Amino acid sequence: METRSFRPYITVVALLALTSLALAFTVDTNISDEAGVRVYLPDQVGDWKGDELRFCQNPACQATVFLSEIKEKGVCPKCGGKLSTMAKAETDLLPSDTEVLKKQYTSPDGEIVFASIVMSGRERSSIHRPQVCLVGQGNEIVKSKVLDVPMNNRRPLDVMVLDMLRRWRAPDGRQGEYPSYYAYWFVGKGRETPYHTMRMVYMATDRILHNRSHRWAYISVSGVRDDEGIYRQKIASFVKQLYLEMAIE
Ligand SMILES: [Zn+2]
Repeated sequence: METRSFRPYITVVALLALTSLALAFTVDTNISDEAGVRVYLPDQVGDWKGDELRFCQNPACQATVFLSEIKEKGVCPKCGGKLSTMAKAETDLLPSDTEVLKKQYTSPDGEIVFASIVMSGRERSSIHRPQVCLVGQGNEIVKSKVLDVPMNNRRPLDVMVLDMLRRWRAPDGRQGEYPSYYAYWFVGKGRETPYHTMRMVYMATDRILHNRSHRWAYISVSGVRDDEGIYRQKIASFVKQLYLEMAIE
């Protein structure tokens, strides 16, 4: 499994993006609803069993519940409030035609991984630079590095892996750290990239050269970070199986 740093060409990409965006917004575009992936997360990924998550929109509750726990469709079992596939903060922030799906996966030995897919709507502003939201939630990003996920019969899928750390302090003064990872990639029609900036470049060139604007999806997988190497292998294995299940035939 190879990893490599993305820093050397990020500046070039950023300059390209700025130039392209400046041009892009002066051109009329046919909005296309074509996507490169389904808004779908399988119930099973290898040995991992998935349960969909729903989020209470009642500001006083905001409970996270499993779909399997919900008795009345769309109703929060804790407060009777309205449920959504996205958290209250996301509903408030994202355009209303954004599609979101989240699942928690559990392995036979009890390990937990979260997966999510966000599909942009017509406004194309549904997907933000992931780092911004994560840091806003109190995490510190200690490392970001692309992971090559080996695939059968095609080139590897590049996935961005952020190593994160959340420091906490209990009321009695005890302190601790929670190490986690957040892995993601973007999918457009016939395109895949682990770089948010590259996605902007693709969107801009599609607008300028092909006069079209496809829907983009943002797929993420997150969990607890253990020893270096081991969790990266786990991500590669999980993402490979998830990718195969999600691909459009
Ligand atoms: Zn509720």
